[in-house]
Amino acid sequence: MTHMHVAGSIHADTIVPGPQWLRVPEDVNALLPVLWSTTVTRGDDGILSVGGLPVTEIAERCGTPVYILDEVDFHQRARAFVEAFEGWDVYYAGKSFLTTAVAGWALADGLHVDCSTGGELTVALRGGVPGERIGLHGNNKSEAEIAMALDAGVGRIIVDSFDEIARLGRMAAERGVRPRVMVRVTTGVEAHTHEYIATAHEDQKFGFSIASGQAKDALRACEADPHLELIGIHSHIGSQIFETHGFEVAARRIMTLHAEVAREFDRELPEMDLGGGFGIAYTSLDSPESPQQLAAALRDIVEEQAHELAVQVPRMSIEPGRAIVGPTTMALYRVGTVKQVVLDAGAVRTYISVDGGMSDNIRPALYGAEYSATLAGRASSAGAMLSRIVGKHCEGGDILVRDEFMPADIVPGDLVAVPGAGAYSRAMASNYNMVARPPVVAVRDGELHTLLRRETLDDLLALDLGYHPVP
Ligand SMILES: *Cc1c(COP(=O)(O)O)cnc(C)c1O
Repeated sequence: MTHMHVAGSIHADTIVPGPQWLRVPEDVNALLPVLWSTTVTRGDDGILSVGGLPVTEIAERCGTPVYILDEVDFHQRARAFVEAFEGWDVYYAGKSFLTTAVAGWALADGLHVDCSTGGELTVALRGGVPGERIGLHGNNKSEAEIAMALDAGVGRIIVDSFDEIARLGRMAAERGVRPRVMVRVTTGVEAHTHEYIATAHEDQKFGFSIASGQAKDALRACEADPHLELIGIHSHIGSQIFETHGFEVAARRIMTLHAEVAREFDRELPEMDLGGGFGIAYTSLDSPESPQQLAAALRDIVEEQAHELAVQVPRMSIEPGRAIVGPTTMALYRVGTVKQVVLDAGAVRTYISVDGGMSDNIRPALYGAEYSATLAGRASSAGAMLSRIVGKHCEGGDILVRDEFMPADIVPGDLVAVPGAGAYSRAMASNYNMVARPPVVAVRDGELHTLLRRETLDDLLALDLGYHPVP
């Protein structure tokens, strides 16, 4: 363990050990390329820059905390998926992060867009995405949401319950339209990060299970309704997946179902969707596959299954969200306090408090997500100090980065950057503790554009009507 100074009489060798996977960096200023968007560099002055702008300047102009999206990197990742999966449709999972500009970029890069609510659908349409390039998900779509989708002529509605099939059929009949419908099934494959489990049944709210026969019943219900155009089976097995074997097991199960209904309906459904969930690097532990590697693996699996079952390969689609927008964006915070916390055994853990927290990134608190961080506004010649980066909220679980080696000379006023913060962070932000949500800015060739402005206290107070009679 490197030497450090701690107030009082605590010695460096009593620093609490980090998790086993976390290595002490030789150089605390080094950037692990897989974690950062492509234009991120640390300049000779030690300052991190992205899209040609030093983060110190971005912090000055935008304040902190701020989410900084590397525009060039977004387009590279989007196009890499579109090119690698040529012949397939790639739907950008808008729930990971969607603004009108991002929707427009997705369209320009050749992506389709997945929405899971009327709100996301509105943003996608406002961003210029034609209805036919949009898919609508959701396990409880309201009549208003279904009406919006039918009026917009969305390209596919992914149905998730028998209630919805009936509702959609009735509303389509009323409007004299025939929406294209996919049936969301559960395969019994549940995948998260480095592991997946394959069981017969899944105990969760999404989809119709194949094992119980409900998936086939749902397909029959759609096929029987003249107001619905059943186009295929949809499966999404989880998120932050590194193990393509999970997709293989799922694909085998849905291709089998696909072949069975083809015989029963006397036609092969023309499309099939394998969902999203492709993992990204949040820490040095993660080594994600490239879109090319994923495409090769998934193509092989589907072609092999089709051959075995003597059916055509349907028109395939996937739905990456995180793998496109996650790595494009860093969160930038300013340090407010650095506290040495003495643990039971006399060991010490350094808590670095920053000016954001669980209100702008709930993922660590919600499901133990891991992140990395680096000192961003300068380089340091100090040694590495195991640290925990925490927010400013009134919750012990308000952790942003559970374990990271930060330079031992970090002080209030320093900037800290958290890479891989583009997906499900700002999109899940709340106003807990009446904290206004941070802006998202895009940077490219030295130019800054606002995608989402910083929320103000006036924005929040506008909702507070005091004590107002309900009309
Ligand atoms: C969330 C979700 C996705 C995207 O997941 P990522 O992990 O962001 O790739 C795709 N499809 C469905 C149905 C989802 O619910």
